[in-house]
Amino acid sequence: MRKKLVAGNWKMHGSLVENAALLAAIKPALQGIEAAVCVPFPYLGQAQAALAGSSIAWGAQNLSEQTKGAFTGEVSAAMLVDFGCRYVIVGHSERRSLYGESDELVAKKYMAAQAAGLTPILCVGELLAEREAGVTEAVVARQLDAVIAAAGVASLARAVVAYEPVWAIGTGKTATPEQAQAVHAFIRSKVAALDVGVAAGLVIQYGGSVKASNAAELFIQPDIDGGLIGGASLVADEFVAICRAAAK
Ligand code: PEP
Repeated sequence: MRKKLVAGNWKMHGSLVENAALLAAIKPALQGIEAAVCVPFPYLGQAQAALAGSSIAWGAQNLSEQTKGAFTGEVSAAMLVDFGCRYVIVGHSERRSLYGESDELVAKKYMAAQAAGLTPILCVGELLAEREAGVTEAVVARQLDAVIAAAGVASLARAVVAYEPVWAIGTGKTATPEQAQAVHAFIRSKVAALDVGVAAGLVIQYGGSVKASNAAELFIQPDIDGGLIGGASLVADEFVAICRAAAK
């Protein structure tokens, strides 16, 4: 059976003081439950110090596709490894839409992460207009194909995919379990057409306004293997309840 994995995406939130309280609250509550938090770069050391030895992994929300050099403001995969990261989010819709990250750049970042031994959490998902135009599967396929073309289908054995319909991120509008399951099944079948074994083991998270109150109905779907959680990952009780729902 595939594991279920819940990862928090703190986005550009937090402070040393706020993070200390949040980490201190989730750590004992999630003892023995595999989960992850993806924190802003400056707080990686804090997450590492607080979570080392626990069942909660930590990671970043972005990385450079470059390994080193004159790239002012960028952060390499090796630097994330230096801080004990296991995961890094690539291709989040906010990176794609606000910072112009193309499918090709996302694929390069995905490969840079894997080359350093990190597990990329590859975000895919359609805009509301794309869903309304009936092209959800085409968009998700294009985003996945860019990575498969660059890194090969076998690379997905060392990755997590997060299906995040853009219209559901931070909006309070969650995809119904049926809507999410349909796209997750599409992703798995698309990968299965290339490699059945990789598809069977692929962890596909759902992201988009997941809360404690809707997590269970999403996670019970056969192709939903946990979640990528934004806003609710900043509230200890919410995040703990979501992680517990996935661990059931
Ligand atoms: C996200 O940031 O990836 C996300 C899914 O956010 P939220 O849970 O707030 O919708």
